[in-house]
Amino acid sequence: MADQQLTDIDGDQIESNYDEVVDSFDDMDLNPELLRGIFAYGFENPSSIQQRAIVPVIKGRDVLAQAQSGTGKTATFSISVLQKIDPTIKQCQALILAPTRELAQQIQKVVVAIGDYTKVTCHSCIGGTAIREDIPILQEGVQIVVGTPGRVQDMIQRRFLRTDNIKLFVLDEADEMLSHGFKDQIYDIFQLLPPSTQVVLLSATMPKEVLDVTTKFMRDPVRILVKKDELTLEGIRQFYVAVEKEDWKLDTLTDLYETVTITQAVIFCNTRRKVDWLTERLTAKDFTVSAMHGDMDQAQRDVIMKEFRSGSSRVLITTDLLARGIDVQQVSLVINYDLPVNKENYIHRIGRGGRFGRKGVAINFVTNEDVSVMREIERFYSTQIEEMPMNVADLI
Ligand code: ADP
Repeated sequence: MADQQLTDIDGDQIESNYDEVVDSFDDMDLNPELLRGIFAYGFENPSSIQQRAIVPVIKGRDVLAQAQSGTGKTATFSISVLQKIDPTIKQCQALILAPTRELAQQIQKVVVAIGDYTKVTCHSCIGGTAIREDIPILQEGVQIVVGTPGRVQDMIQRRFLRTDNIKLFVLDEADEMLSHGFKDQIYDIFQLLPPSTQVVLLSATMPKEVLDVTTKFMRDPVRILVKKDELTLEGIRQFYVAVEKEDWKLDTLTDLYETVTITQAVIFCNTRRKVDWLTERLTAKDFTVSAMHGDMDQAQRDVIMKEFRSGSSRVLITTDLLARGIDVQQVSLVINYDLPVNKENYIHRIGRGGRFGRKGVAINFVTNEDVSVMREIERFYSTQIEEMPMNVADLI
């Protein structure tokens, strides 16, 4: 079938040769324990890629998914793999490879967390840890193994990791892996797996090395390409308030507060400490605000995002670390309490996926020292940041 082009509700562009889209986890025929784990983990609805990739993997199709990070790929294959494990067989049934130890460990944590109510076992098998710790766990028969290519190949060759029952092989960040010299190891691992093994490959880009793997080792794969919308400043009214000194920012924000809460607003600060400080100050003035930063674990962040998305909190104070993760349709006002240190972050904070022409307002607090930074941002984006008018509330 020819690839179909679709536009998703999130504004993602989708191309695929597979047209089944399941937009609710409830309708994916998942084990009840797994479904419970997904909801307990904080997911409510599947992302674009999850709506298209989970079901074909469960049905046994080879799947090739091309999408940038942050689209929900890890969760896609974690859910699919958990669903495919036969709990009565205490042998490795799924092998997941990732390019780095950190990523492998992160994946293992996601699998364990989402699979919390299932009895499925998962172990990470990575370089840099004691082999003697891996051996008894593998010999006992762990159902999912997540690892880096070198250690996994070693464990298979030494027969500590048995491949007889492996039915699913996942290559995450395949482009990274193949460009980092893991090609031979990955090809060797393919040869060591049962010929009927189903293959799921995830990659942000499709260089030749990745395409070679798909033609050599995959059978009539379902292809899913998710293209994120390019960010743009078009349709965003950008203003500045000359606050002169840092000390005057808080009063300026307090003065603006009524305007801010007409709608929902995100306020960016440059440090976690400033986020905490500002949250305290605003809370002391009886304003209801939420705060989120990188010191918080995923579960905490998910709770805060949920609060904010549902509208029960109207102001979210955060750092750049999370600018890329915040994609909230209803946020039409962004305040840069601090101008971003790095100008690339400016568009991540205030830009939008352009095709829907969503409007927005950005207000930058600019001290005397910041003026040159602001001019630099204007030049870099060929855009204009105007002095904030009195009637800014009418523009939101
Ligand atoms: P990728 O592997 O593409 O980088 P992840 O699976 O790590 O993406 O997901 C990116 C972020 O989005 C993570 O914080 C994850 O917990 C969250 N996420 C993924 N899927 C969903 C979903 N269906 N609902 C809510 N959050 C999700």
